[in-house]
Amino acid sequence: MELYQSQNLKIHNSLSGKKELFKPLNEGRIGMYVCGPTVYSNVHLGNCRTFMSFDMIFRYFKHLGYKVRYVRNITDAGHLVDDGDDGEDKIAKKARLEQLEPMEVVQRYTIDFHNILQKFNFLPPSIEPTATGHIIEQIEIVKDILDKGYAYEKNGSVYFDVAKFNETNDYGKLSGRKLEDMIANTRQLTAQNEKKNPQDFALWKRAEPQHIMRWPSPWGDGFPGWHLECTAMSTKYLGETFDIHGGGMDLKFPHHECEIAQAEASYGQSPVRYWMHANMLTMNGKKMAKSTGNNILPGEIFTGENSILSKAFSPSAVRFFMMQAHYTSILDLSNDALLASEKGYHRLMEALDILSSIVPKGVSDFDVQAWKKTCYDAMNDDFNTPILIAKIFDAVKFINLLKDGEKWINASDLKELQNTLNAFVFDVLGLVDKSDNADDSDKLSGVVNLLIELRKEARDNKDFETSDKIRNQLDALGIQLKDGKEGTTFSLS
Ligand code: AMP
Ligand code: ZN
Repeated sequence: MELYQSQNLKIHNSLSGKKELFKPLNEGRIGMYVCGPTVYSNVHLGNCRTFMSFDMIFRYFKHLGYKVRYVRNITDAGHLVDDGDDGEDKIAKKARLEQLEPMEVVQRYTIDFHNILQKFNFLPPSIEPTATGHIIEQIEIVKDILDKGYAYEKNGSVYFDVAKFNETNDYGKLSGRKLEDMIANTRQLTAQNEKKNPQDFALWKRAEPQHIMRWPSPWGDGFPGWHLECTAMSTKYLGETFDIHGGGMDLKFPHHECEIAQAEASYGQSPVRYWMHANMLTMNGKKMAKSTGNNILPGEIFTGENSILSKAFSPSAVRFFMMQAHYTSILDLSNDALLASEKGYHRLMEALDILSSIVPKGVSDFDVQAWKKTCYDAMNDDFNTPILIAKIFDAVKFINLLKDGEKWINASDLKELQNTLNAFVFDVLGLVDKSDNADDSDKLSGVVNLLIELRKEARDNKDFETSDKIRNQLDALGIQLKDGKEGTTFSLS
């Protein structure tokens, strides 16, 4: 018997606005799609939060014994600068600015994305498809929606006819908007002249001569609309209706609303049974975002090279910080909060260490079975990791009393306590058991700064042989020194 058969997992479904008992379409199997990154820049910590929420969810499903097909895409075309239907493609713009091929931009930032996720100990998804790898599938859906009368072609672009769709379906049901209100609140934009209504969205866009990311289609050279790729890739790998679709809250409208419209228009059925939305990471009370500059990169946190935090923090400390908030709550990043999380994470790791050296004895003073149930209850209540962590810390308190000889535990309870803690801390929360990088990076900074000082002394004494040797050998180790007005700093490659 698999674990999931004895658990009643409830999930907050954004579509109904309620917590619902989770039942997958096929017993024991789950299909989950999560909108991935647009790979035109380094992922910031806000992006990581959303992906980490779904990593934890994926991990809990696996822990319960489900077979999960987890699809998380890479957006490498079609996402325009203004998130709407006008403006330049985000990747093409970056390619122009940096004088690179668009696919060089895609490669660079996909690698960065994978590196960062690996540092945070993410599990890889089962499939990571790209938009450019599914142009044919996207064109097929456009043709199908045109055939069914929910789209129209204009000058080589194809638009989804929202008003037509809304006659038979409910456009706005996910985001709680009404088409009439949207109509009342929008001004006709001149750039949208091709559209019958401003609410209509592009399924396929004609490529202007200067647009380099282009593909042939029945309507001429063009490129797919951003929303279309997720409909094509989710249904290709998970079926026309699948269990879970996730993403950040900011994708609810228009992206996910449009995905629903496309799938309902094409397949005649609702694509997703449980819509899940992760909430935003903020900094200084404002959404962390690439466009506003209010963001911090994970790499800057791990090395401590930033002007926001007082020191470096390890990936596990940051992961623990994220897990202390429920995935549907807003979370604000601050130095104090990270310091507190780091302390908590170290206390937890210490307790696990202590537990491994405890000798069982006497009658247990801790009801391990009852405690274990509270851990599952927390996770079954819409993945409530903050409550889970509170329960884990009840166990930490008890472990410290065991260490002091004030409490006892018998052999079978000790084994059960260890197994349960390991499962939740490492398998489900995805923490890593090493006082990883923060301590090491403090030490590294200390050593490099010492070498920088010695190099300065050598230079002051005109001993350029020594100063060059220090610089060159550090460089060979991937540590670059940079001399500036304020002194010398270093960076790691
Ligand atoms: P993008 O690369 O812009 O398409 O975004 C990738 C993912 O990051 C999406 O699911 C967004 O919802 C999510 N995201 C963007 N900003 C934040 C933030 N400040 N906090 C949490 N998630 C975010
Ligand atoms: Zn998407």
